[in-house]
Amino acid sequence: MSKIGFIGVGHMGGPMAANLLKAGHQLIVYDISPTHTDPLKAQGAEVAQSLSEVLQDVDTVISMLPQGQQVREVYLGEQGILARAEKPLFYLECSTIDVETAQAVHAAVAAKGGLCVDAPVSGGTASAAAATLTFMVGGSQQAFLKAQPILNQMGKKIFHAGAAGCGQMAKICNNMLLGISMIGVCEAFNLAKGLGLEAKAFFEIGKEASGQCWSLTQYCPVPEILPHTPANRNYEPGFMAQMMLKDLNLAVQAAGEADVAVPMGEQAKALYQAFCESGGREKDFSGIIEWLREQEG
Ligand code: NAD
Repeated sequence: MSKIGFIGVGHMGGPMAANLLKAGHQLIVYDISPTHTDPLKAQGAEVAQSLSEVLQDVDTVISMLPQGQQVREVYLGEQGILARAEKPLFYLECSTIDVETAQAVHAAVAAKGGLCVDAPVSGGTASAAAATLTFMVGGSQQAFLKAQPILNQMGKKIFHAGAAGCGQMAKICNNMLLGISMIGVCEAFNLAKGLGLEAKAFFEIGKEASGQCWSLTQYCPVPEILPHTPANRNYEPGFMAQMMLKDLNLAVQAAGEADVAVPMGEQAKALYQAFCESGGREKDFSGIIEWLREQEG
């Protein structure tokens, strides 16, 4: 199997890279934080000391970085990989970033004769570890077909969303809906409580009635309703509120550029911003239920 370069091996990239090792790939990993590469080294990965080293002998590069700024630096910077790669490579950029940066990466890769997909993921660290992520892929049909077997080793559902940048478009639309629906579910539980209706009773009815959604049926923000939800462990993440805020910022920014009205998306962004500023930044995003309750009276 071919050797793969992996850049950014934090909470998500670490377990994703580990699954590629388990699948039998040779891997060379790079991260600005050396402690993040140690566990992969122990599992058999080579560790690169620089970006140019990660390009040696590979024909495929995967990246899982925090934000668009790091993706620009790593791909498009003067010292970045596109400036340094000696031959056209295949790139799978899996971070959640703005559409404009994703499309700029596609264009720069194409200018060098390479192939690229934007392939952000849905599913948190547990899905990354279990190789059950959902990938939303943007790029040509040729690039998608080439990406599929690699993504299948890190995920379960692989969707071709469309041309360059469409993976990021799908991701931010989905996460805007998730942010809005989570707040809606939290408000419904808070209203039920205020009216004197048991949370369990509302859950049993809501999951069969027309208000049902993933935030209610799979990720219920009230403790002791579903097993394994962050609500049962004092809203330890899971998916951090600051990550949700980042995604809502991307959605609202994209909506502004496309001249699309997203008043609920803007409201969700404002509420997550307030939750983050009052100490919720590193809590799970479902923990906003407690902050909403604090706003009462
Ligand atoms: P993280 O901060 O844990 O990991 C990012 C890694 O990139 C870190 O190890 C960091 O040291 C490294 N890094 C930063 N700048 C670098 C550079 N210039 N060169 C090399 N390495 C660099 O973040 P994460 O939780 O793994 O998230 C990564 C991406 O996945 C984000 O875009 C996030 O929105 C998305 N995502 C996260 C989750 C989740 O539950 N954590 C779920 C879905 C999508």
